[in-house]
Amino acid sequence: MHLFAEGCNHALRVARERGEFRRFKLHRLVCRDLRAMGLSANLAVQAIARVGCKKGSRAKLYQPTSCAFDQRTLSLRGEAVSLTTVAGRLVIPMKLGNCQRGVLARARSVQGGALTKGPKGKWYIHLALRVEAPEPPTGGGKVVGVHLGQKALATLSNGVQFSGGPLKGKRLHFLKKRAEVRSKLDRPSERTKGVKRLWARLRGREARFVSHTLHTLARRIVDGLEPGDTLAIEELTGLRGRTTKRGSTERHLHHLWPYARFRSLLEYKAALRGVRVVAVDPRHTSQQCPRCGHTARENRKSQALFRCTACGFQHNADWVAAANIAQRAGSMGMGRCKPARILRVSSLHRLPLESLRL
Ligand SMILES: [Zn+2]
Repeated sequence: MHLFAEGCNHALRVARERGEFRRFKLHRLVCRDLRAMGLSANLAVQAIARVGCKKGSRAKLYQPTSCAFDQRTLSLRGEAVSLTTVAGRLVIPMKLGNCQRGVLARARSVQGGALTKGPKGKWYIHLALRVEAPEPPTGGGKVVGVHLGQKALATLSNGVQFSGGPLKGKRLHFLKKRAEVRSKLDRPSERTKGVKRLWARLRGREARFVSHTLHTLARRIVDGLEPGDTLAIEELTGLRGRTTKRGSTERHLHHLWPYARFRSLLEYKAALRGVRVVAVDPRHTSQQCPRCGHTARENRKSQALFRCTACGFQHNADWVAAANIAQRAGSMGMGRCKPARILRVSSLHRLPLESLRL
């Protein structure tokens, strides 16, 4: 592992000197050196892969805490993992829980993995597995639209609304906390090791919290659907460009809706359940009337309320957007998709899942 980190660092040094972070060019430059250092061809490729990417160009130094393996250097032997290392082939038994056993049993093949050393000196192996996704049953199934927002994290066209309150509160808390620590970091007298460590810890904690929230939200949405259903989301390259919000706090929050990441989570969770995901044109979803189709900015009375200036139809604005998204994905018109009662979910954890099946 030390050798692997050294290899990474060597590749990084060369890449810096030559200003070359393209993977294949870099490969030509350093492959021979890495082999001479004693890394096998596969490990050399993995080391170059780490450096030769967008992330690599920002790296300072690689620590000997993790090492990547691919299909040729990693394989499973029952409940043990077999790794090809510089010291030859090692077969290491894994400690598995029932959950991991279940996942392994469903996996079709192993694509690779990473060996990491945890902070307490424990060793972990992350495996990348290929799992067979069920073929979604054709025909039938309902179409559910998802609208993502700030006030409500997500609103479904069936009326379920996930409140954004807890997330917002927590992120503002982190924002404040970070400003505090930041101001300390700016004063040299208070720039102690402890403060620096706190800074790093806060960052990690916030990232883990957000990631957990996104996973839970995606899980809750997908669990409320049946195989064969279709999930419609807005085709956005980022909520960023759309903001009209003023004030740094609001803007901070707006930038923190990691849309692309949420979408990829939603897509893989949906695929495993046999739910199709389609993306639709997001323009005017919050200004169009789902009953008569009249589109006007004046339809949107406030953050929360939608009232059509043509036909008087009135409902929760987030639901209207979700309903429009569902309609664009081919759901039946208003005739069948009657205005849903809004069911607010304030906590992602407490409510029993059954109550979400509508
Ligand atoms: Zn209308």
